[in-house]
Amino acid sequence: MNFKIHRGTKEIGGSCVEIWTDTTKIVIDIGMPLVELDGTQFNFASYQSLQTSELVQKGILPDIEGLYENSSSKVAGILISHYHQDHHGFLSFAASNIPVYIGEATQRILEFSQEFFKSEKLNKTFINFSKSKQFRIGDINITPYWMDHSAFDAYAFLIEANGKRLFYSGDFRGHGRKDKVFKRFLFKAPKNVDYLLMEGTTIGRGNLKFKTELEIEEDFVRVFKSKIGINLITTSAQNIDRLVTIYRACKKANKLMVVDVYTAAIMQEMSAYATIPFASKSFPEIKVMYPYYLSKMIADKMGKEFLYQFQPFKITKQEIAKRRNEIVFLIRPSMKLDIDRIEQIHDGNYIYSMWNGYLKQQKTKEFVDYLTAKGFTFHQIHTSGHADIDALKEMVAAIKPRYLVPIHTFEGDNYKSIFTDTLVRRVKDRENITID
Ligand SMILES: [Zn+2]
Ligand SMILES: [Zn+2]
Repeated sequence: MNFKIHRGTKEIGGSCVEIWTDTTKIVIDIGMPLVELDGTQFNFASYQSLQTSELVQKGILPDIEGLYENSSSKVAGILISHYHQDHHGFLSFAASNIPVYIGEATQRILEFSQEFFKSEKLNKTFINFSKSKQFRIGDINITPYWMDHSAFDAYAFLIEANGKRLFYSGDFRGHGRKDKVFKRFLFKAPKNVDYLLMEGTTIGRGNLKFKTELEIEEDFVRVFKSKIGINLITTSAQNIDRLVTIYRACKKANKLMVVDVYTAAIMQEMSAYATIPFASKSFPEIKVMYPYYLSKMIADKMGKEFLYQFQPFKITKQEIAKRRNEIVFLIRPSMKLDIDRIEQIHDGNYIYSMWNGYLKQQKTKEFVDYLTAKGFTFHQIHTSGHADIDALKEMVAAIKPRYLVPIHTFEGDNYKSIFTDTLVRRVKDRENITID
């Protein structure tokens, strides 16, 4: 068995690993980069006009024989670890007849986002795998391990062929709402692994122990109760763990949770796969707000029927104004005009619940300034979607690989000094490694 990391040995983003035997080739993840080669922010808009072959030539798309249309050989399968852009963002470029092995909820989120933002169907052949259930592609055996991560339905993969074993950690953590999933993983982790390719997103932040989702649930409750007035929160609609945390904090503080129609749709879609609250008769404390531009876009792209499915749980701007002291309202910078139109929205709490790196973006900065000028008190309540040093060490100790390979990290050179009981092998992007 051989492998090649196309991108990720010295950066976060653009995740893509090629694995092959004499007869079979598979690819794990086909992500979009987050940074350019010079470290500046990656923006695909500046490459959009280029052909697939040009994108490969420029090193934007991975150079993998058989991955794209019109090639004679074929990649036998693509595995997608989870629904974050840096793991699946370039999937649309792959030849449409290559089967894509994916978790069921992840497939649904990808399809939903494609319909929602691009009004088109994903032209892919999806095959759903099940947690811990081994499957086979050619002479390669694959076992998906369910992981705790800020993306719902995230997996690590054990890859086995010709008596050799490679483990790809994907993105994971041990302090989320699925912390027990991680504990269980440590207990039954695969042994005799030759190579562990392990993410290290947060290496570089020191030995900091990260707060758990349960701890930040209490932080939310405290802030909700700290002041009279409305509570506004900015978070990612796809961070299901965080939505559940906020919902539970609302219940504890006796608040109504108001989400926009996009977030409401995501929660409803995901409720098919786990116990997730969503706007319905079963969760009367969740209300749906219809922002002007978003609603117009949804009506155009998805149709009025889709738009009005949450009508029974709708809350109007007037009602938000009237009940402001009992409301927790999930907003984003693009909803500034809507907030402008709600009367008496001032002097509450504004909670930023995402990675603070995004706070540097101009649009976000202006939004924070706009709310603080209205008398809002600014708070940050967040915990990372990725493992802290302790959890990373726990994974290495549970698997005890022959070699540990840094991936999905800017800090690969630091692995040696952190994982001192393990042989760290620093490989380069696009270096062929034969497992012998
Ligand atoms: Zn991720
Ligand atoms: Zn990632």
